[in-house]
Amino acid sequence: MARVVKKFGGSSVADAESIKRVARRIAAAKREGHEVVIVISAMGDTTDELLDLAHQVSPQPAPRELDMLLTTGERQSAALLAMALSDLGHVAKSYTGSQAGVITTEQHGNARILKITPGRIQAALEEGSIVIVAGFQGVSNDTKEITTLGRGASDTTAVALAAAMGADYCEIYSDVDGVFTADPRIVPGAQRIPEISYEEMLEMAANGAKILHLRCVEYARRENVPVHVRSSFSDKPGTWVKDLNDINEGNPMEQAIISGIAHDRGEAKITVVGVPDRVGEAARIFDAVARADINIDMIVQNVSNVDSNRTDVTFTLPMSDGKKAIEALRAQQDTIGFQDLLYDDSIGKVSIVGVGMRSHPGVTAKFFNALADAEINIQMISTSEIRISVVVEADKVDDAVRAAHTAFGLDAEGEAVVYAGTGR
Ligand code: ASP
Ligand code: MG
Repeated sequence: MARVVKKFGGSSVADAESIKRVARRIAAAKREGHEVVIVISAMGDTTDELLDLAHQVSPQPAPRELDMLLTTGERQSAALLAMALSDLGHVAKSYTGSQAGVITTEQHGNARILKITPGRIQAALEEGSIVIVAGFQGVSNDTKEITTLGRGASDTTAVALAAAMGADYCEIYSDVDGVFTADPRIVPGAQRIPEISYEEMLEMAANGAKILHLRCVEYARRENVPVHVRSSFSDKPGTWVKDLNDINEGNPMEQAIISGIAHDRGEAKITVVGVPDRVGEAARIFDAVARADINIDMIVQNVSNVDSNRTDVTFTLPMSDGKKAIEALRAQQDTIGFQDLLYDDSIGKVSIVGVGMRSHPGVTAKFFNALADAEINIQMISTSEIRISVVVEADKVDDAVRAAHTAFGLDAEGEAVVYAGTGR
């Protein structure tokens, strides 16, 4: 007997029929003798619809009320699922995040889980019930208010619960078959990755792969919870995200050099032109950006021009923060002493990710040659121990992903995977 946490995304419970289908699937796991905890997302596009409704009523809804509203989406699907399971002859009980003991920080809309006190659901589980927890929400001990954990965060609820309850593993069900070597909508020959390490999955998620919530992967790594990402529409195995040492017995020579290619079209690039080359300038620039509460990604500083003794600093940031960053820097132009600002949001980032690059030379050269052969110009480069990212023109993102996928031998032979899901 295993103790398993299973999370079903919005697309798996989009309507009454899907809820019944998911209930049958859960019932089958229960019949096999497993202890089953379910985490559920809101039905279909409910969260978006509720957000939309809120903004029709009020241009700037109070964050507290927004959380009161959005948490009803998950509560709805949890209760409906309990009803469906009950009709199949099971004892099933739904719980809000707060009832399930999900304790969070007080920040509305983007709270973090501090701890889980699972006493109540633990007891229900031991009585033989199927426990259903509304994902994406919790309660702050300090303010006693209901919070939400950020968009897509039911994944994080599931992994946190799995850790708190000592589950054997956590299964994340969506409408895709797992994690792919690249987005199959761009690369028809992309393949499902059977196993991937936490580190690689973190890099993939942080660099644009949308299949798992970043914080969920961070949580899984910290607590060492194996995560199985799979489709709720089939019985096929999906992708296991787990400790590197549990993959191929940790043998680096067995590992693919590159596990996957991620891309991100959500960033913009700002160049601070003509920055005086003197101590403290970079600090002043990024202080201004940080005070505006903006996270930056890549940074490049040029060698300064000998005659003018000035240099350019370019960085990338989320596109949605572009305007705010420009305003923050403009306001400091005289203090910082730069000459101009350039803004460009028609860029994209393409990243190759793989633990194998630690032990194989020549990966960078191969990647850059593939881009050169496809006549793609590289604007910026950044690396980690297991990732190489480039910024290219937005129009070239698809070509860059395809070129890298082929260069590293990831293209499937024969029939490509049929893919239509959203990954939710
Ligand atoms: N329903 C929430 C959202 O759409 C949480 C989730 O789906 O994980 O963001
Ligand atoms: Mg969702």
